[in-house]
Amino acid sequence: MLDPGHGGRDPGALGVSGRTWEKYNALFVALDAKALLEQAGATVVLTRTSDTYPTLAERVQLAHSHGADLYISIHNDWNQDANIRGVTTYYWHERSRRLAEVLQAELTVRLGTRSVGVLRQPFYVIRNTQMPAVLLELGFLSNREEEARLADPAYRWRAAEAIYAGVLRYVTEA
Ligand SMILES: [Zn+2]
Repeated sequence: MLDPGHGGRDPGALGVSGRTWEKYNALFVALDAKALLEQAGATVVLTRTSDTYPTLAERVQLAHSHGADLYISIHNDWNQDANIRGVTTYYWHERSRRLAEVLQAELTVRLGTRSVGVLRQPFYVIRNTQMPAVLLELGFLSNREEEARLADPAYRWRAAEAIYAGVLRYVTEA
């Protein structure tokens, strides 16, 4: 299950330039990752495939009703400090830690960016799902350079490749 964060009436974070919205960046990465994973034979369901807003409870319920093996929520970060940059992977339950570590490693290398770290936070969608679940923050929209990267289709494709590679490693190294 891939979960592009936000959507519809909830745009998520606005880039520092005022031109980039998190909800679109997240959706495009999810669609790319879906294509890559499906090529490899995975069954991939998205919590949304367009600019709509399923509630957090609906997203979790969707994952359970599909019997999802993994849940990956995709976001862009924002911080008051415009200098902060890098990629972060959040998990909550211990069962999700290895997935978080593998995805964080792939993202850091393939995006050539700083690793903020693998952190524990009880975000709704990773706390209430019953399968290994992580929430990815692919970079900071509050940082001018990262905002430009996150809006670049080639960069988003690399993020999707990192998700694909991480899932592949997760399931083959299990
Ligand atoms: Zn978000």
